[in-house]
Amino acid sequence: MEKIIDENKQGNSIILDQKNENSRKLYIESYGCQMNFSDSEIVASILTNEGFNTTQNLEEADLVLVNTCSIREKAEQTVRKRLEKFNAVKRINPNMKVGVLGCMAERLKSKFLEEEKIVDMVVGPDAYKDLPNLIQDIDDGRNAVNVILSKEETYGDIAPVRLNSNGVTAFVSITRGCDNMCTFCVVPFTRGRERSRDPQSILEEIKELVGKGFKEITLLGQNVDSYLWYGGGLKKDFEKASDMQKATAVNFAALLDMVATTYPKLRIRFSTSNPQDMTLDVIESMAKHNNICKYIHLPVQSGSNRILKEMNRLHTREEYFELIDNIKRIIPECAISQDMIAGFPTETEEDHQDTLSLMEYVKYDFGFMFAYSERPGTLAERKMEDDIPGDIKKRRLTEIINVQQKHSLYRTQEHVGKVEEVLIEGTSKKSEDHWMGRNTQNTVVVFPKDVYKIGDFVNVKINDCTAATLIGEAVGYSDNN
Ligand code: SF4
Repeated sequence: MEKIIDENKQGNSIILDQKNENSRKLYIESYGCQMNFSDSEIVASILTNEGFNTTQNLEEADLVLVNTCSIREKAEQTVRKRLEKFNAVKRINPNMKVGVLGCMAERLKSKFLEEEKIVDMVVGPDAYKDLPNLIQDIDDGRNAVNVILSKEETYGDIAPVRLNSNGVTAFVSITRGCDNMCTFCVVPFTRGRERSRDPQSILEEIKELVGKGFKEITLLGQNVDSYLWYGGGLKKDFEKASDMQKATAVNFAALLDMVATTYPKLRIRFSTSNPQDMTLDVIESMAKHNNICKYIHLPVQSGSNRILKEMNRLHTREEYFELIDNIKRIIPECAISQDMIAGFPTETEEDHQDTLSLMEYVKYDFGFMFAYSERPGTLAERKMEDDIPGDIKKRRLTEIINVQQKHSLYRTQEHVGKVEEVLIEGTSKKSEDHWMGRNTQNTVVVFPKDVYKIGDFVNVKINDCTAATLIGEAVGYSDNN
């Protein structure tokens, strides 16, 4: 689990300088998925309007917010360890208040206050607009909790404050919640029912980003393929909508077309997809627009039909292959990545072999692979025993990772000798003299800095590769620059 402290080199410090010194100091830490990082930018915006400045210095903070993740037990342990660390800081800064946000806050609710004494405030993912009131409560010495899940809230009217921004790429959330009840997943319980954001407010946010010089956006949601705007309200109530609402509804393919044609020079990515909701028109929209990146994150979790059923994933392995075939037929150069779970309850060696053979069929570019972690409140926790021994989970996970490593190298080697368009995002972690960026397939590319700068679209000749990175030299600016 990657932890990023919300320190920032460009964006915020500029905003910081414009605020007077006596405003209160806000320190935010985010964990988990991109949705949480995007939410932290919403929170920073709401509190900037309340006179808070974001700071990178924990010890000077008046308010410390931890945006938590609950996807696996380890994620929650990481948060608890971090909260422990705050005790020492509180001794130096006794007026400091601590709040927890996100999925763990939603899962534990007021129990969080009992379990972690340093916590003053617990706020669920749909209640961030109530933060000013909740902060008033803790300022008055009362604990504060709001974990109400919403049917409408999309924060479409809040302009995010970009945190930890490279000034080039940004997240734009388009949906919230998830209606798919995968049996292992806490998200439907911690983020509520699916609702989509008004396309006009999405275009407004993108307009502001383009105006600030951003070159790439990622349209974000737990399940973007399920995006459906018909005037507001829950996805599941679409059937009750009027004929007019149905006739003018905007689905994900239409939203992609809208964004790609309105901002033809902007690079567009999206995440996360669900195979059971992805439709051909989305793939055709991707093929139609050069500026929609040729990469899909397509979690599958298992290659066994029996386990997919136990997971309540509403597709078979064969249907998943058909989707992969359609993607490769319509966009041959499209990269695909996966999420995989090893050791789901009742998983046999044969089921595991089905997962490995599915990976052989797809040969993913890269993936996120984890051992099954039982989550409280999920159907799997309530109905199934976590019966796969730890050492078997570990061995199967290692086999999955090894197969992925082999395929990642197979895929990166396909790029050697080619010239790829790369958007420069920053300095390579490995060398001060090299830029890092990504090609349309979302593969990291590193090359000597030469005359180019952050934000440039550059054509790079790929000379070599590792399983994760393409290594090359710049051969000129791309036409999109
Ligand atoms: S699609 Fe399934 S795994 Fe993904 S967020 Fe929804 S319930 Fe969780």
